[in-house]
Amino acid sequence: MVVRLFTIVVICGALLDAQTSVPPPVTVFQNVRIFDGTSSRLSGPSHVLVRGNRIERISATPIVTSSADTVLIDGAGRTLMPGLIDAHWHTTLVRPTPAVALAADVGYTHLLAGAEARDTLLRGFTTIRDLGGPAFGLKRAIDEGVVTGPRIFPSGAMITVTSGHGDFRQPFVELPRVLGGPPTRTETLGASMIADSPDEVRVRVREQLMLGATQIKLTAGGGVASPHSPLDVSTFTEPELRAAVEAAGNWGTYVAVHAYTPEAIQRAIAAGVRCIEHGHLMDEATARLIAERGVWLSTQPFPDNMADAFPAGSEERAKAQQVLAGTDTVYRLAKKYRLKTAFGTDVLFSQALAQRQGALLVSLTRWYTPAETLVMATGTNAQLLAMSGKRSPYPGKLGVVEEGAFADLLLVDGDPIADIKLIADPARNFVLIMKDGKIYKNTLPNSVGN
Ligand SMILES: [Zn+2]
Repeated sequence: MVVRLFTIVVICGALLDAQTSVPPPVTVFQNVRIFDGTSSRLSGPSHVLVRGNRIERISATPIVTSSADTVLIDGAGRTLMPGLIDAHWHTTLVRPTPAVALAADVGYTHLLAGAEARDTLLRGFTTIRDLGGPAFGLKRAIDEGVVTGPRIFPSGAMITVTSGHGDFRQPFVELPRVLGGPPTRTETLGASMIADSPDEVRVRVREQLMLGATQIKLTAGGGVASPHSPLDVSTFTEPELRAAVEAAGNWGTYVAVHAYTPEAIQRAIAAGVRCIEHGHLMDEATARLIAERGVWLSTQPFPDNMADAFPAGSEERAKAQQVLAGTDTVYRLAKKYRLKTAFGTDVLFSQALAQRQGALLVSLTRWYTPAETLVMATGTNAQLLAMSGKRSPYPGKLGVVEEGAFADLLLVDGDPIADIKLIADPARNFVLIMKDGKIYKNTLPNSVGN
């Protein structure tokens, strides 16, 4: 009886849906030149039809639609390109200081993250891969349209070891940890989890997957901003790393590790890790290994003044300077060994730096052509995201302008391949920003139907 009642409710619901469903919105971009996310040249004059959240048609001749509600965008020869992707972002750790992130009311820090998510999208970044932090709630609110922001591929809490990068405990207050005791503050927040054996790693990885992680993040070596982790150390043992790789693999996805040094990178690769974050202190042999194994390198051009964020004479400042010195090395090796290289900014604890997200991308032109730079932040980054397989929350193509792909699009006032500096000033030069077929910004004076 209950089953029959349920069936009737479902059928009635379906009928109701059919009666009230409205056709998906249609937008036509007229007379644009396309940077498609993979090619190094703009297309000739083109017309692009977006229906719902997908790019339905791209044509060299004008597109006529029967729908009276069609929004017509006169591109006037401007460039239509895929939304940008930041492959290493921390949605909830951009604006607060470390002290605020640790100690403030969690509602406050999430509201900060919501405000930052809006700014991120309005900088033209329509997708980010979150490499650590409690991003699940924000992602849900964005996907539901409650908050404006980019698509998020969350890792959930980053997983570390006692004393590792991400262990922010106070040594003389919170140590020794009682095994089986209450969670630490960062664990309660969902920012980082401490695991000191293969079994503990498995538990923590599976918890993040259960919460909705699209990939898993471990810290395999020391970091700059953590108080107890020298840069040269390796943290997880190979069996611990392998436990994470196995648990993630069983779930159809992969592990990315934070690692700067050859030792940390090589151990991670031996354990089956498929993406190295940073890699600034790597050497030739390590680059060769990354190439041979087809592992991804997700790295970034840290800004020159990054070290200034730490007090003069502090250990953190010294570590930052050491990493900065490796930036040229990592990009030279990435090019020399043709590594699969993704672009991310890894902005932490600085709203001012986040506002330079596009400028950080442009700074890649020290090593890459403008076209190579733009391809990396769109089509190539999307290939990395695709490694999440069925764990991707957005089944469809990202990072490209092609028929069938998600309609995540930027209309740029100029040609970013000829003048990539346009990307550094999104407020001025991105005249239209669309994500999932919806227009979030449009400063063109005379679009019809909008
Ligand atoms: Zn990071």
